[in-house]
Amino acid sequence: MRIGVLALQGAFIEHEHMLAQIGVNSFEIRKQDDIGNSFDGLIIPGGESTIQGKLMNELGLLEPIRKMILSGLPVFGTCAGLLLLAKNIENDTHSYIASMDITAVRNAYGRQLGSFHTTACFNGIGDVPMTFIRAPFISSVSGNTEILAEVGGKIVAARQDNQLVTAFHPELNEDVRIHEYFCEMCRNYTVC
Ligand code: GLN
Repeated sequence: MRIGVLALQGAFIEHEHMLAQIGVNSFEIRKQDDIGNSFDGLIIPGGESTIQGKLMNELGLLEPIRKMILSGLPVFGTCAGLLLLAKNIENDTHSYIASMDITAVRNAYGRQLGSFHTTACFNGIGDVPMTFIRAPFISSVSGNTEILAEVGGKIVAARQDNQLVTAFHPELNEDVRIHEYFCEMCRNYTVC
């Protein structure tokens, strides 16, 4: 199994380390050629959604990646990655890949509370450590999107079929279970 990690900006190396820890091969996606061969899943890291979105567009990655996701490629977006996948962002005039039926709020906790750490229940896994950095949250979900975790009444993780998002950064903690959960989604993915 091979997982592509979008490596334009942000915390991509941390995801590669997590995958290596659980024995899963990864490669970096920086340009169109990198997505020429088939792969089993995609991680979109945290960082700055506006910069990643702009670079994806300029590098001609946005449209092909959107098509792959809509055709069923498993994708895991953390933090900025969540914003890139959201169909709506309440406080941003742009949407980017816009493949997932969620509405998100950018920098939703304000400056003071923007970064914090907690432990909360992730549906199907149990209590996991959650590190939030200038994080978004999900204000609403629609379609068949399933809520996987909430903190303080705000939705911080969700899944819709092949798409998984977290507002926090599981790659910044020791706990590998969310990456394992995503890899399980990738193992069950069959290209049709
Ligand atoms: N605040 C960032 C954004 O709007 C996301 C922060 C993160 O990914 N840690 O893109």
